[in-house]
Amino acid sequence: MKLLSIQEAYTRKFKRQEAIKELQYHASGHCVHIGKISPGCGSCFVYDRYHRNLLTGAKCNLNCCYCFYKMKEPGKIDLLNTITSIIRESREPHYRPTSISFSGGGEPLLYMKTIREYMKVYNDIKKETKGSPWFYLYTNGVLATKDILEELRDLGIDEIRFHLGASNFSKDVYKNVSLARKYFKALTVETPAWPPHKTKLFEMLPIIEDIGVDHVNIGEIEVTQYNRRKIAKILPDAEIYQCHEMHLYDNGLVYDIMEEALRRKYSYSVLDCNCFVKSIQRGPAKMIQHENLRGLFAGY
Ligand code: SF4
Repeated sequence: MKLLSIQEAYTRKFKRQEAIKELQYHASGHCVHIGKISPGCGSCFVYDRYHRNLLTGAKCNLNCCYCFYKMKEPGKIDLLNTITSIIRESREPHYRPTSISFSGGGEPLLYMKTIREYMKVYNDIKKETKGSPWFYLYTNGVLATKDILEELRDLGIDEIRFHLGASNFSKDVYKNVSLARKYFKALTVETPAWPPHKTKLFEMLPIIEDIGVDHVNIGEIEVTQYNRRKIAKILPDAEIYQCHEMHLYDNGLVYDIMEEALRRKYSYSVLDCNCFVKSIQRGPAKMIQHENLRGLFAGY
């Protein structure tokens, strides 16, 4: 793999952005998108001390070559401690989280028992505080059957995000995305700009428009000790660069997708969930009050 200088990588990115006049820029340029993005993305750009991304467990039923994180052993989530800490903070006078997410390091739907326990706590808190954050959950979609989707809706999940690339855009997972439409306020596809998926990503665009997907988040592959060798084997000429983490340069793929969505007038938003998003999400930039972000998020 070739390591790009940050000047080269950033300049290429910014030039590609300049070529699309319809792009919208928020959060001092960290958030580049078309359309109103999911409210679940708010905590990436605006500091919320009560937001939690709840890790459910490290096992996964798939094995993506680009998976950026793998525990050797299935992780033991300290459920009791986390729940105690959630209950404690919910008693603070200004407790009002804007969003709570479930993700993994693994596949969350393998851990329905854990999700049930967390949501029971949050539903009790909701009654006491008379306010509700936006609850959203990531999945590769394989286990997202009608019964599971119905249960997630009943537990109070507002949005579900499908990682379609994980199953190589399998027909069964598309069926599950379609099923999910009627159960959630927001339906999102969040899948990476993995160059070998380019054709499938373009084929996806009209399919998810017909399903009624609301948001598309295209992530940038993070290159880590867990996936570096596998990526180098598949893409020996890949270009990588350093930003918040080490990232695989997508050669403008996310902007090709945005142009196509604009050309075909698809109704969903598309977010470039790239290194600059990670930089604000995980770094001190979020502590700064960026420009007014009202109007950035879809209302539900
Ligand atoms: S679905 Fe997610 S957790 Fe599972 S292997 Fe793929 S990237 Fe990793």
